[in-house]
Amino acid sequence: MHPITIIGSGLAGYTLAREIRKLDKDIALRIITADDGCFYSKPMLSNALAKNMDAKKLVMTSATDMAAQLNMEIITHTRATHINRHERTVNTDQTSGKNSYAYSSLILANGAQAIRIPVAGNAAEDILSINSLHDYGIFRAQLENKNHVTLLGAGLIGCEFANDLVSAGYQVSLIDLADKPLGRLLPEQAARNLQHKLGDAGIQWHLGCSLHSINKTAGQYQLTLNNQVQFNSDLVLSAIGLKADIRLAEAAGIKTGRGIITNGYLQTSDPHIYALGDCLEFNGMVLPFVMPIMIGARALAKTLLGDNTDVSYPPMPVVVKTPAHPVVVCPPPPNAVGNWQEEVIGDGIKAGYYNQHKLLGFALTGAAVTEKQKLVKRMQDDAITDG
Ligand SMILES: Cc1cc2nc3c(=O)[nH]c(=O)nc-3n(C[C@H](O)[C@H](O)[C@H](O)COP(=O)(O)OP(=O)(O)OC[C@H]3O[C@@H](n4cnc5c(N)ncnc54)[C@H](O)[C@@H]3O)c2cc1C
Repeated sequence: MHPITIIGSGLAGYTLAREIRKLDKDIALRIITADDGCFYSKPMLSNALAKNMDAKKLVMTSATDMAAQLNMEIITHTRATHINRHERTVNTDQTSGKNSYAYSSLILANGAQAIRIPVAGNAAEDILSINSLHDYGIFRAQLENKNHVTLLGAGLIGCEFANDLVSAGYQVSLIDLADKPLGRLLPEQAARNLQHKLGDAGIQWHLGCSLHSINKTAGQYQLTLNNQVQFNSDLVLSAIGLKADIRLAEAAGIKTGRGIITNGYLQTSDPHIYALGDCLEFNGMVLPFVMPIMIGARALAKTLLGDNTDVSYPPMPVVVKTPAHPVVVCPPPPNAVGNWQEEVIGDGIKAGYYNQHKLLGFALTGAAVTEKQKLVKRMQDDAITDG
């Protein structure tokens, strides 16, 4: 039989390979990956400065060691370029040697791409974004001897990098179109609390505006915002967000939306092709976080080995790594109907999103983060009561 073939060696690809190996030591397994196949923890990229870890130190295991540990073939520096669904083969960009691989099942674990916003000026191309260890290496090299970093986007990743940079002694400016940080995840009071605490830590806010232009002048960048404010910065990092990488799937005629659309078995519109991780869309949601990958990989490993297993996601709180003011969010489902209720606890906020008395999501900041387990349990109990 041809190998189970995974496209991508991120958390999704490797977690799935591990889960398969827990169940079957021998079945043929292969990863094809565009990068070097090193295993690392992507969430650590946004708190590595404070931990004094550079890109090299963040590598946990090389591709060669992963291949030995998992008894599998790992083809690195090779991009999948085309899926031939009828022949069940994947073509790659390799110009010499083998460049087509047959699969029994194919798993798309090819992640997401950083969203870029159009910015005017002669240095728009210099704006960095970080969605891989490679990107992080470039960022760290450029950070040498710099003082002032500007971040675009005060979402989860923007706030984390801002906190990491400011605690490592950098001057940090943070720009967002919304008038508060984590605007999509936190209700009013909780967001304001985070804004003030990160402000106290030294972050310079530019909220309710966007970057209009960036121009290089005498070794620095001159930034002009759309509210006419101007300042200079040494480095600009975009953390606007990610979009699922659907290109390979779309070109192969697989159903896509915001991500690669799957059913409960994480199976795409092609019964031999599955998706996992940041590229996936399930029930109208993209879930670009670690916990859905762990839970999905466990179920998918069983399905791939013949025991069809529906993925079932429990409440999945995400810890935002802003030590200046810790945050935990468990957002309500996209179409949930309800209201936020916020309560002050010590220096933080406990916020629940309720439909009548049913808890559909929550957000905790500061001292209130200790309530996490209690609220997860409450959400699970409420879901059971609801039937
Ligand atoms: C800075 C940062 C901090 C984060 N912090 C947290 C956190 O605290 N908690 C949390 O839950 N989540 C966090 N996340 C999100 C989490 O890290 C991601 O959801 C997860 O790592 C995604 O894994 P993935 O394998 O789906 O994608 P990726 O890690 O992007 O892997 C995609 C893989 O596919 C390969 N690839 C792409 N296209 C091709 C192709 N055509 N052919 C071959 N290979 C291809 C790439 O080379 C790569 O190996 C964070 C994300 C970032 C960027």
